Amino acid sequence: MLAFSYDRAGSVDEALRLAQQPGARFIGGGTNLLDLVKAGVEQPQRLVDVSRLPLAAVTELPGGGLRIGAMMSNADVAGHSLVRERYPLLAQALLAGASPQLRNMATVGGNLMQRTRCHYFYDTGFEACNKRLPGSGCPARAGVNRIHAILGASAQCIAVNPSDMSVALAALDAVVVARGAGGERRLALRDFHRLPGDTPQRDTNLAPGELIVAVELPPSRLAPHSHYLKVRDRASYAFALVSVAAGLEMDGGTVRAAAIALGGVAHKPWRVPQAEQALLGRPLDAAAAAQAAALMVRGAQPQAHNAFKVELARRAVIRALGVAGGMA
Ligand code: SF4
Repeated sequence: MLAFSYDRAGSVDEALRLAQQPGARFIGGGTNLLDLVKAGVEQPQRLVDVSRLPLAAVTELPGGGLRIGAMMSNADVAGHSLVRERYPLLAQALLAGASPQLRNMATVGGNLMQRTRCHYFYDTGFEACNKRLPGSGCPARAGVNRIHAILGASAQCIAVNPSDMSVALAALDAVVVARGAGGERRLALRDFHRLPGDTPQRDTNLAPGELIVAVELPPSRLAPHSHYLKVRDRASYAFALVSVAAGLEMDGGTVRAAAIALGGVAHKPWRVPQAEQALLGRPLDAAAAAQAAALMVRGAQPQAHNAFKVELARRAVIRALGVAGGMA
């Protein structure tokens, strides 16, 4: 049995101070961390409970954006009237994730920090896993890799990021606000998660001891024409094989702006600026959607068991764009 200390932080400053102790980890809703502790993947010596910090509000930003506190539950964000009105893509993505019970517990900050669902990462019966034990190898490469990456993988790791929320946030150009010993820092969502490269043990670009305090959404005109499409093995409570967050700004039938992010295909939400640019200034028709979809999966390198994801992702992009743009 793992022995650990537990402290509930009463302020962000106290949380940051407690987190400087060796072996400390923040815990919010605990919906991922406790699973990892029970599986023996994570062995924190100290838990710093940040769930009661006053970071559970939505506030309006000048110009029409929103700031969402890191301790808001996924359910509360999905149900918030301003989120539903201005960023329905985010509400849809959140409601596509997990189960109602988990969404009530899981926080925005925790959702950003959740770790891959690679079976080999969770099963400590497999000694090797570069994400768990750097330098030990990647059994998924020669093993069962149906759920793994087709884009952006490395020789060290082919895991994917499991978050639905992050895919929508990537399409919405969200900014993660973090606080650490050096003060507050802002990271674009697209730079928040990392590709595995030679350091697959690092999922994000947060520095040790930094705490996510909010996510900010810039003003967006994508709301009337946006859609989150999640393709999975069963209708609910399953991670995405492929997901798409698509948003369009339309002028009549012409695309004025486009944002597309893919989930379930890489170690981070996947955006391809060329795919979005290919849609601009033209009608959203089948040819335009197909061209953008092909660009989204350009360079895909499937594993032995997941070549189907390439075609699935391509078709999912076409479908999501069609729904967003009123074609489907
Ligand atoms: Fe570990 Fe990554 Fe390989 Fe999975 S894909 S076994 S997480 S190194």
